[in-house]
Amino acid sequence: MDDPVLTLAGEMYQKGVESEMSGDIDAAKYYYAQAAIKYYQSASYAKGVSYEVRIKKAEECKERIKRLSKVMPKHEDYSGMIDIEERGDVLDVENPKLKFNDVVGLDDVKERLKIAMVYPRQYKNLYEKFKLRRGGRILIYGPPGCGKTMIAKACAGELGLSLLKGNVAKLMSKWVGEAEKNVSYFFKEAKNMGEVVVFLDEIDALGASREKVSSSTVARRVVTQLLIEINDLPEGILLIAATNIPWVLDPALIRTGRLGTPIFIPPPHKNARIYLFKRCLDERPIEKDIDIEKLADLTEGYSASDIVDAGGICEWASTLALRDSIKNGKERKITMDDFINVIKRRFVKPSVIPWIIEAQRKISRNREIGRAFPELVEFITNFEKINIG
Ligand code: ADP
Repeated sequence: MDDPVLTLAGEMYQKGVESEMSGDIDAAKYYYAQAAIKYYQSASYAKGVSYEVRIKKAEECKERIKRLSKVMPKHEDYSGMIDIEERGDVLDVENPKLKFNDVVGLDDVKERLKIAMVYPRQYKNLYEKFKLRRGGRILIYGPPGCGKTMIAKACAGELGLSLLKGNVAKLMSKWVGEAEKNVSYFFKEAKNMGEVVVFLDEIDALGASREKVSSSTVARRVVTQLLIEINDLPEGILLIAATNIPWVLDPALIRTGRLGTPIFIPPPHKNARIYLFKRCLDERPIEKDIDIEKLADLTEGYSASDIVDAGGICEWASTLALRDSIKNGKERKITMDDFINVIKRRFVKPSVIPWIIEAQRKISRNREIGRAFPELVEFITNFEKINIG
């Protein structure tokens, strides 16, 4: 199958070789750098031999640059090009197979995302007729482990598009002083990819409130750059930004509507938890006494990840049964008691609770946060009603 990123890598490599042969060392280094980035990028979604070959080619490009750097003094313009591996690292592309049906619960969120992201591709004419904008930009927020990344992947999966993930922490930490250049570099790469879903996780790391970071001019410039880039996005690029800590975001990001109305991704409600348990226990040996409804009742405040992931409730309960089976030399199934043990003895803690407490604190201290995130306020008020009375 055609891989435009790999094709581009090959073209850049070829231009590097040609420039080197004609003695234009600066240009050669530039093209090898571009080629290396593209090879790393294409390796990120390749497997087996293809992966090995792409990494090898990227490393060859780096070797070539190193060799050329020995004969030529470092050119100033290369300050941002030297550590190509790191820059390649901030670009992470995958082609997710996930669909909305794979994401448990969140029906309302899925519907809103379909309207913003998916339907504009499927019903172009209708959107034109109703004069609705087609390029979606969305901010999703909520406690960790409740499906923000999954939802972003599912959007790309539904559309059959690649997902370009911005590694915000790397953009910021490895390139301090260069950070705003990296933001524009990142978006330039996105534009080169044509149609793509861009996922900027932990957007808070980039878009922290300008007031709070007034001491750091770099951070201020990064926020401004980010706002410019978001403003300038072509229709083909769908942007999903996500954060676990919406209260630190620059209000300008929200007020201007650049990221649309923020969408709250709540922790799984009871029915979703039932479904999560069912799915997770589907192929495990379980006793008949397992009462999934009761498990769902006992797990208010747990994230989806707390229930289904490695180190989560289902895995712990399975481990208890496995441990006994090995110790006693006799296999036994997973029982309700195993689950009760795991939950009551807090082998896994409900990770959403501290998040809610923090959100409550932030909202009570700053009214503007509540105004910017009304769904969060509603969620917390309901949670208090049910759990505190
Ligand atoms: P977030 O981005 O909100 O921190 P993720 O989407 O990365 O959380 O979820 C982490 C893991 O938790 C997922 O890989 C998946 O195993 C599980 N998970 C989270 N939310 C859901 C959900 N709604 N349905 C099914 N699994 C989920």
